[in-house]
Amino acid sequence: MSGYVKSLMAEVKAKNPGEPEFHQAVEEVTESLSLVFEKHPEYRTAKILERIIEPERIISFRVPWVDDQGEIHINKGYRIEMNSAIGPYKGGLRFHPSVNLGILKFLAFEQVFKNSLTTLPMGGGKGGSDFDPKGKSDLKIMRFCQAFMSELFRHIGPNTDVPAGDIGVGGREIGFLFGQYKKLKNEFTGVLTGKGINWGGSLIRPEATGYGSVYFAAEMLSTKRETLEGKTCLVSGNGNVAQYTIEKILDLGGKAVTVSDSNGYIYDEAGIDREKLSFIMDLKNIRRGRIKEYADKYKSAVYKDLNPKDDFNPLWNHKAHCAFPSATQNEISGKDAQNLLNNGVYLVSEGANMPTTLDGVRIFLDNKILYGPGKAANAGGVAVSGLEMAQNSMRLPWTREEVDNRLRMIMKDIHSTCIQMAERFGTPGNYVNGANIGGFLKVADAMIDQGVV
Ligand code: NAP
Repeated sequence: MSGYVKSLMAEVKAKNPGEPEFHQAVEEVTESLSLVFEKHPEYRTAKILERIIEPERIISFRVPWVDDQGEIHINKGYRIEMNSAIGPYKGGLRFHPSVNLGILKFLAFEQVFKNSLTTLPMGGGKGGSDFDPKGKSDLKIMRFCQAFMSELFRHIGPNTDVPAGDIGVGGREIGFLFGQYKKLKNEFTGVLTGKGINWGGSLIRPEATGYGSVYFAAEMLSTKRETLEGKTCLVSGNGNVAQYTIEKILDLGGKAVTVSDSNGYIYDEAGIDREKLSFIMDLKNIRRGRIKEYADKYKSAVYKDLNPKDDFNPLWNHKAHCAFPSATQNEISGKDAQNLLNNGVYLVSEGANMPTTLDGVRIFLDNKILYGPGKAANAGGVAVSGLEMAQNSMRLPWTREEVDNRLRMIMKDIHSTCIQMAERFGTPGNYVNGANIGGFLKVADAMIDQGVV
């Protein structure tokens, strides 16, 4: 760690205590950016990174709501408006009991660089609540979403801050949130993305993060003149990102053999075909069941409970070529990273945000595998959110083909930016440096143009 990174990290930790995920995200970016500051001290003089680290605004609020039995519940609500140098704040809402300020700050920080990489004019933000939607009735979910929006609505707007979904916030929740916003503001605007297709949503938005992560993987493979055809892939999660990752792996001739939830994972050596994938989609999106049921239905699969005492995740300990972590942060530890390499994995494309710990990242980089970090590999979701905003502004929807082509081009462009930036700053093939530097430069230049604000 250079002297600059050390002193900046000491300051970040002192000023933001008890936020380990935020420290982790900042450290990874700062290490990459020290390469830039050596050549361009003007960014250090202007304290650009120090400014990016400090959110422009943090909104924290009470979410009181009454359930269908008349019981009162109180949750915490947040919106982090991180950076608006290149466009309105943009980033998802996460509803999960683990949500806290530090986690949302790490997500908002990552989002700034990711959104910049998409080439679209979007700043960075993130928000959410410690509300747990798991196992709750549609009525409870609606009541919570309405209570959450009753405060959030005054802080957001189509030219100010445009939230979307994330863990625990899918089409159902976006619908309830949008309905409440429309009622309170008496206006129909593109204030959220991930909307239903009949009321302002974009085709391909639900698919975009998973498809994009696989497009990014295909781009990385193409640098070795390879394709996904015949490749065995490990996928974690079974939500939005995991589902469409598996669909695109199938489209491109690969075979996914795992999926998981927070209780356990299944290993299906025969591969998850389209019929099995539609079972997963029905199970997760409609019946809202647990992944264990997959192994009851398909005898080719084995289910294993995760043991929280284990210092590794057995999902990452199977023979494969590629891995697509698509569940949550820090799901690949250093030990998992080593297990992946030992099992022949030479490509990791991160559908989830920061799924790999810093020591895991170092193992991937030291071994020079094709490692696509989340802020590049999963940028397809927010990119199509940006396309949804463009369609809303024009009041004209694009076809599926048009959106998918644009998504593919954006993922290709992000890939080239990573390659070019990594090479320009002396670390060819290092997608982490490429993504961090590529995302940073555009935001940094905009901040310098706009003065100290
Ligand atoms: P989702 O539809 O809510 O699915 C999340 C999945 O991850 C579920 O299968 C969930 O299992 C699992 N999971 C959550 N917390 C976990 C934990 N602590 N341990 C193990 N598994 C866990 O969410 P998603 O939209 O697919 O998001 C997945 C990841 O992608 C997140 O990191 C998110 O930030 C990132 N991402 C999403 C988008 C997007 O467009 N949706 C865009 C960019 C990045 P349970 O059912 O047991 O909770």
